[in-house]
Amino acid sequence: MIQKTFEVTGEHSLDSILMEIRGMRGYDSASARLVQIYEPNSDKNYIQAMLNNVKSKLPECRVIGMTTLGPVKKENITQKNTVISVILFKESGFRISVYDCYSMDVSFAGRLFTQSLCLIDDLRGILVMSSCARLYPTDFIERINKDYPDIPVFGAQAGSEVLIDDRSKIFIDDMIYTRGIMAVCFYGKELSIRTDCNLGWRALGKEMTVTGIAKEGFITSIDDQPAISIYKKYLDVVPDEYFFENVCAFPLLMKNGNMRLGRVPLDYTSDGRLQFSMTIEKNSKLMLSYSKPRYLLKKTLFYANEMSKFKPEAIMLYACMNRRVFMGNENADKEFNYYKAVNPETLTGCGYGEIYKSSDGGGILNSTLVAVGMREGAIPSDYEPVKVSDLEVESEDYSSIPIWERLVTFLEATTSELDEKIEKLNKLAERDQLTGIFNRRKLDGLISYELSKRRRDERLTLMMIDIDYFKNVNDTYGHDMGDMVLKELTKCIMSTMRTGDTIGRWGGEEFIIIVPDTTSANAKIAAERIRRRVAETSFGLVGHVTISIGITSVKKDDTTESLFTRVDKALYDAKNNGRNCVAIR
Ligand code: GH3
Ligand code: MG
Ligand code: MG
Repeated sequence: MIQKTFEVTGEHSLDSILMEIRGMRGYDSASARLVQIYEPNSDKNYIQAMLNNVKSKLPECRVIGMTTLGPVKKENITQKNTVISVILFKESGFRISVYDCYSMDVSFAGRLFTQSLCLIDDLRGILVMSSCARLYPTDFIERINKDYPDIPVFGAQAGSEVLIDDRSKIFIDDMIYTRGIMAVCFYGKELSIRTDCNLGWRALGKEMTVTGIAKEGFITSIDDQPAISIYKKYLDVVPDEYFFENVCAFPLLMKNGNMRLGRVPLDYTSDGRLQFSMTIEKNSKLMLSYSKPRYLLKKTLFYANEMSKFKPEAIMLYACMNRRVFMGNENADKEFNYYKAVNPETLTGCGYGEIYKSSDGGGILNSTLVAVGMREGAIPSDYEPVKVSDLEVESEDYSSIPIWERLVTFLEATTSELDEKIEKLNKLAERDQLTGIFNRRKLDGLISYELSKRRRDERLTLMMIDIDYFKNVNDTYGHDMGDMVLKELTKCIMSTMRTGDTIGRWGGEEFIIIVPDTTSANAKIAAERIRRRVAETSFGLVGHVTISIGITSVKKDDTTESLFTRVDKALYDAKNNGRNCVAIR
């Protein structure tokens, strides 16, 4: 495989580039030829003329492309000129499908597409591009992932010259789509594809919940407040001309599979809604995040070196404009240059969102750098990977770190200390101090949860345990001895309990055991074992104590209250039956 990437400039005209491509070594013998165009000018007539020209000069090539995202602020321009990249395959191939989503919906397109995939042998990866910021290819990507979980999906949502004023387009040969999804299947016995999905932002602060959504990628409320107010509340960012610039630095993070996905709003409304280039479901959890340019660069450097070991013959990068706004042009170029050090012909592009989906998770992304390396044939055994390094990143100059970076470090350290403390407190808040087992509050929560997630016919049983004549123990041996008995008795019960059962202290000398997926008859066998073991055990000076156990199973329409009333009655039965026994209700 050979990749070559060109930029159309005053000195290097489109025509001369097309001639150069036509004359490339390997052009005539190629098994397949893919021309990719990233176009910063979203004028339809302009693009049409260019495509006609390319197709007429390179009729043997398939042409795909997209419009790229213009500057978020004046200084941030990734790409001024048309960029053309060609890949000549030695023996592999690709197949292009395109769906015009004016005439069909995205999930239908996804179904059509995956149905067609069974005809392809040795499928290695799928490039997806879509146009129109309000066309969400999520269902298309999810469909592929569901049917072909081992095939990586990567690509981008096309961008537009002016952010928000969406004129994004994708193109295939001489056709332009203003609301379309394209999928390019790369296949071949000798073909390998390596993908990196590099976010680099870190979660910050507390988890928030999406409480209101509307059509077209809008979030109306977060934690029951107008969505936009989280930026004011936590970051003192207000909706003004610098809004995007400010929020870019703090993407929202969401979990999907094992991955964290970045989300940055594209637009906002005066009533406080935020609009995204993907649909975000109600009740999704979000967190703000932060980074430092150095963090992003370090991670990219790592990934570029990993990519280098793969000896890619072609590299495509799908990058988020947010990274550039956040890091500045120099750092963002550096990030690209790490990959260009691996392969100087690396193709880079920015759109409204990056696409990456694998068995790990993913979907439509923001703030991310997706890298795709391709090669044909095995990596030669004597291959020495190019080591990409960057002294500026590796040796930090502490004297010149700006104050805000130091404050981020401060925030990071204090947040992690607080997180640790909160975790400890949460643990304490759910534990009984004397015995260390769950307390009543936690038991209540666990049982409510079990009841709410319980499916019909699923069995759930409760045991309530009470020590017999425990007052006598306190009266005879003192309260401290009573406490010792409570502790030792807990251990004794726990050593007899089945794994999967959960014990907690309900109050004084009463315990609850939650026994999932068990009938009361089977729970009774377990309860008898516990009762016997306790009766056989000697508790120091106190000697032997006995327990009574009440059992009940969840019935249709039970609430936590009705369940506890019944188990309490069962215990009362056991007491009435002479204690040191088990009763069922
Ligand atoms: P029975 O349950 O068999 O009817 O008799 P009982 O003597 O156990 O009666 P009851 O359940 O009414 O009494 C519970 C006693 O448990 C009362 C209290 O002194 C004792 N107790 C409750 N919590 C603790 C505790 O944390 N430590 C100690 N040492 N005793 C406790
Ligand atoms: Mg009691
Ligand atoms: Mg008692």
